[in-house]
Amino acid sequence: MRTIVVPLGDVGYHEIIYPSPACRRTIPKGARVPRELHDGFGRGINYLRISVTDKCNFRCVYCMPEEGVAMRAHDELLSAEEIAHFVRLVAPEGITRVRLTGGEPLVSHRIVPLIEEIRAIDGIEDISLTTNGALLPRLAPALREAGLDRVNISLDTLNADRFTQITRLGRVEQALAGIDAALEYGFDPVKVNTVVVRRMDQDVLELAKLSLERPVHVRFIEYMPIGSSATSPCPSIVGRRTQGVLPPRSGQSEAPEEPMWSSSATSPHCGAGTSGCSGSTLNPELWDASDVVPSDELRELISSQARAMGIGALAPVDESAPYGAGPARYWAFPNAAGTVGFISAMSNHFCSACNRLRLTADGQLRPCLFSDAEYNVRDALRTGDDEAVVALYRTAIAHKPQQHDHIDGTQRFMSQIGG
Ligand code: SAM
Ligand code: SF4
Repeated sequence: MRTIVVPLGDVGYHEIIYPSPACRRTIPKGARVPRELHDGFGRGINYLRISVTDKCNFRCVYCMPEEGVAMRAHDELLSAEEIAHFVRLVAPEGITRVRLTGGEPLVSHRIVPLIEEIRAIDGIEDISLTTNGALLPRLAPALREAGLDRVNISLDTLNADRFTQITRLGRVEQALAGIDAALEYGFDPVKVNTVVVRRMDQDVLELAKLSLERPVHVRFIEYMPIGSSATSPCPSIVGRRTQGVLPPRSGQSEAPEEPMWSSSATSPHCGAGTSGCSGSTLNPELWDASDVVPSDELRELISSQARAMGIGALAPVDESAPYGAGPARYWAFPNAAGTVGFISAMSNHFCSACNRLRLTADGQLRPCLFSDAEYNVRDALRTGDDEAVVALYRTAIAHKPQQHDHIDGTQRFMSQIGG
C-alpha cells in the first residue's frame, strides 16, 4: 500500500491511499499534515498493541486454559530486538503510541530493556502497559526509569476467594499492591480493567468505589468472544449460567448449575495441541452471549446501588476523562478522585474510531481483534528486508476490516493475541 499526495494549489491536497480506492481525503491548506497511515475506511492508524509474551502467571478463566498456553519453540517468538526493530520501522509510518501486553508482559525478563529501546525511538510519544499487577511492586521503579508512561491493571473482583477462583493462581492483594505501586511511582493515568462476565458474580460497586478515594479510572469491559470460535481447534460448548449479583436479563432462563471456574465445567477437547488447546478444561471456550453484561445495564446497576448507599449516582465526565481515553466512556461519583469507565465492545462497538493494530508474540500483525486474518511480519523481519516489513504493515492497514459485525469468536485466546 502507498500514499499518493496530489497537490491542489491553494486548496490543499488530496491524499490517496492505495490499494483502497475508497480512501481519498482532501486536506485543507494549512491543516496539520497527518502523519499516520489511513486504512480503507479513512481511519488513521497510530496505535500498536504488542503482545510481549503469550505466557502468564495467572490463568483467568475467561482468558486462558487452566494448563496455560502450549509451549512454543523459542524461535517462534519475536525477540525483544525484533519487536523494537519493528517499532522503529513503523514509527515513521505514523505509530506514535505503543502498548505492551500479553499474556503477562511482566513475566518477560526482557520487558525493561524493551521499554528502554522503544523509548529511544523517534516519534513514539506514549508507552503504556497492561498487567495483572502481581509483579508491579517489584518492577515499578525499573519500568518508570526505563520510560514507561502509564499502566492498566486488571482486577475483576475485590473478593479474595472469588479473585483466586477467577485467576486460578492469583491473590487479590497482589493486584491491589500493584495499583498502589503504580500510583506511588507516578504512572499517570492509572486505569483498572474489569472484565464483566454475568456468571462471575462480581462485586461491581465495590470495584467502582476504588475511584472514590484514589485517582484511578476503573473501566468495566464487556466480555468478548475471543478464543471461542466455531472454527477454533477446540469446538465451543454453550456455557451454563448461575445467578449472581448481576441477575439474568428478562427472558433468559436461570440455570444455576456450574460457576465458570468449576472443574466440572469441561468442554470437549480436540487434542490438537495448538492455539493453547492442550488440556481438558477449556473455560475460555465457554463464552456465551448471555454472559455479556451491556454497559448501560451495568452503569444503571452501579448507579442505583451507589444511590442506595448514599454515595450518589454516576454522572458523565467529559473534560476530566483520562489520557488515552480510547473507546471508553467515562462517568464519576460526586467528588470522586477518579472515574468509572465503560468499554462497550459488544453492545455498542467503536469500530469506526478504531486506530490500532496488534502484533502477536509470534510476530503476526493482526488488523482486528475479532478477525483471524494475520500478516506474518516475523518471517519478513528475519529476512532483514525492512522494506518488505513496511510493505506488510501497509498491507495489513489496507485490509483492516470495517467492523466486526458478527460474534463468531476467534481461533486464538486473548492471552495469545494481546488484549
Ligand atoms: N495479563 C495482562 C492483564 O491481565 O492485564 C495483560 C493481558 S490480558 C489478555 C489484557 C486484558 O484483556 C485484561 O484486562 C483481560 O481482563 C482482558 N481480557 C481477556 N480476555 C477477555 C475477553 N474474553 N473479553 C474481554 N476482555 C478480556
Ligand atoms: Fe493472564 Fe491477563 Fe489472561 Fe489473566 S487476563 S490469564 S492475567 S493474560
